Amino acid sequence: MAIQPIRLFGDPVLVTPASEVVDFDKELRQLVSDLTETMQAAPGAGLAAPQIGVPLRVFVWDIDDELGHLINPTLDLSDEMQDGEEGCLSFPDLTFNTPRAFRAVAKGFNMYGDPVTVEGTELLARCLQHETDHLNGVLFIDRMNSEERKSAMKEIRESSWFGLITEKGIQPTIKVSPHSTFGLGL
Ligand code: ZN
Repeated sequence: MAIQPIRLFGDPVLVTPASEVVDFDKELRQLVSDLTETMQAAPGAGLAAPQIGVPLRVFVWDIDDELGHLINPTLDLSDEMQDGEEGCLSFPDLTFNTPRAFRAVAKGFNMYGDPVTVEGTELLARCLQHETDHLNGVLFIDRMNSEERKSAMKEIRESSWFGLITEKGIQPTIKVSPHSTFGLGL
């Protein structure tokens, strides 16, 4: 078990679609364990495998004191929408209003290869959508309207971590404070 560095916006792995999991083996269970440990250390409410540099369709969450994980997910979304602040562990210290479906039903597999269905509203629904997006190389800024995205990009460009990446070409190790993303880091 090991905490892995979280990849930040600007890393190509975050905009690359991840591959389906084929082997439900020991390595996969290790990945779920590493993701869970890294998410809890951040701390965050969700984390997808590409965020630790692994291009596989796997994510984990920790919402309402319930830990979960899902592999190769597909989503059914409600027409009813929700507005609200959303954070991402790959964008430290920032949250933005992000429109999402109010309810999501995710179908996929657990780490032993058994089919599972997860149904959630509000934050869990938001998380299922945010993490599935990560597996498709889609980021929450892509879900904003053009005006919101513009102002979000301004804040991102002004953040100290983004400056380190673009000016010095380094991936800084960020210790995200529990307050910085208001428990909304996904
Ligand atoms: Zn995220």
